[in-house]
Amino acid sequence: MARLNGKVALVTGAAKGIGAATAKVLAREGAKVVCTDLDETGGLAVADEIANAGGEAAFMRQDVVDEAQWEAAVKLAEDRFGALHVLVNNAGIAPEGGPIEEKTLASWRRTIEVDLDSVFLGCKHGIRTIKKYTSKGGVGGSIINLSSILGLVGQPNASDYNAAKGGVRLMTKSVALECADAGYNIRVNSVHPGYIDTPMVKDALNRGVVQGQAVGPNEMRELLIMLHPIGRLGIDTEIANAILFLASDESSFMTGTEVVVDGGYTTR
Ligand code: NAD
Repeated sequence: MARLNGKVALVTGAAKGIGAATAKVLAREGAKVVCTDLDETGGLAVADEIANAGGEAAFMRQDVVDEAQWEAAVKLAEDRFGALHVLVNNAGIAPEGGPIEEKTLASWRRTIEVDLDSVFLGCKHGIRTIKKYTSKGGVGGSIINLSSILGLVGQPNASDYNAAKGGVRLMTKSVALECADAGYNIRVNSVHPGYIDTPMVKDALNRGVVQGQAVGPNEMRELLIMLHPIGRLGIDTEIANAILFLASDESSFMTGTEVVVDGGYTTR
């Protein structure tokens, strides 16, 4: 317990799925958490749940593609909790799958905007703020960017998502080196989940778009499970626990690396 005592964290996309689980796990370990999301009802419910469990949390409606709203989000952390040490760039979307020949430029740009531009904005404003509250040899900061197994390996019909998540992977390394070279005590790492049983995956199963195959949700789920040698889909807290490790000082010698939490998906 209390692996994040004294730390202030900001988690985007915190209304549901991996973001909600992460906000709760970080708060349980002592962090004061700013939860942000487009979904106000869900985000407020997560902040309330944290408060009811004895933790400290605030919610702000934030669209992660809007730079002014990033400025407001990091300011909320400072105004409400006096600092920012941990940023989890989690908010994202899974676009409808389809061959590149059929994709529109508008849908491509939307995926890149939400899944990649948002991480650029988060790193930019996160570092500008976190560096004020960290020091070499003293308190450390940590940025965790949600990539995916699809930031490591290709998947047909997912050119936009592959491009965005691959971009997150390498941008993470660039930014990690910038922080190290500048002497900031801010580590930057990416997390690469396999298929996790969140609303995002449930929606994709219902749309019948996962892996580009036209079968029903139950059959699709079984096909997906077979891609994970461990024999099941992941659960949100299994990703949150990896994020907790990266957020805490237990991972103090890790920066610019990719933490794969995928039930063996990319191992075969
Ligand atoms: P989810 O759809 O269940 O939740 C995502 C949250 O992000 C939602 O609450 C949504 O409202 C919010 N969001 C979406 N667009 C936003 C925007 N523009 N501004 C602010 N908030 C926004 O998704 P999840 O499964 O929990 O995924 C979280 C992250 O993990 C995403 O980046 C996703 O790409 C990544 N990921 C998920 C899986 C998986 O299998 N679930 C696998 C690999 C990577």
